Amino acid sequence: MTQRARHWIRPPYAQAELEFLLACTRCDKCIEACPHNVLFKLPARLGAQVVGTPAMDVLNRGCHLCDDWPCVNACEPDALRLPATAEDEDAPLPKLAHAEINVSACLPYLGPECGACKPACPVPGAMTWKMEKPEINPDICTGCGLCREACIVEPKAVNISSLPPEIRELPSGSP
Ligand code: SF4
Ligand code: SF4
Ligand code: SF4
Repeated sequence: MTQRARHWIRPPYAQAELEFLLACTRCDKCIEACPHNVLFKLPARLGAQVVGTPAMDVLNRGCHLCDDWPCVNACEPDALRLPATAEDEDAPLPKLAHAEINVSACLPYLGPECGACKPACPVPGAMTWKMEKPEINPDICTGCGLCREACIVEPKAVNISSLPPEIRELPSGSP
């Protein structure tokens, strides 16, 4: 199970994989609640333990890190659960996935100017620009995939990969 968990990306604030699987009733409410169609059901070929549980399609659609977390709030059994915070504090942003620039596909690294992904990043400091070339700070980046969605080249010049479970459980260092 641990190995398989490396291959998909759970919705925001999912519990650790084992606890998530025990809690998730496969009710689809998080999938239905997402206004950006980022969530999908894992298919049967991945095994009976995970079939029908929700995962994120951030390779194709960025997660908008919605202010009110509709996916999380839709989850009645708390398989998705906001971390406890002080009353006047927002929850730290979730760490969804690992994102990195593929410098062999990113236009500014090859010569032409670009910057199409620049306005897409919702997390201050996650993407920085040096000599008009983008870099991603893994300590701040959530892996939301919005920069990948905005990227204008094919194949996309932002690679997104799932996190090892022990990293996924930690909140990002984002402000
Ligand atoms: S935070 Fe918003 S966009 Fe991201 S999965 Fe949840 S509902 Fe969808
Ligand atoms: S809302 Fe919660 S219980 Fe229902 S499918 Fe999503 S994660 Fe599972
Ligand atoms: S740099 Fe990270 S936080 Fe910013 S848009 Fe890309 S994946 Fe999302």
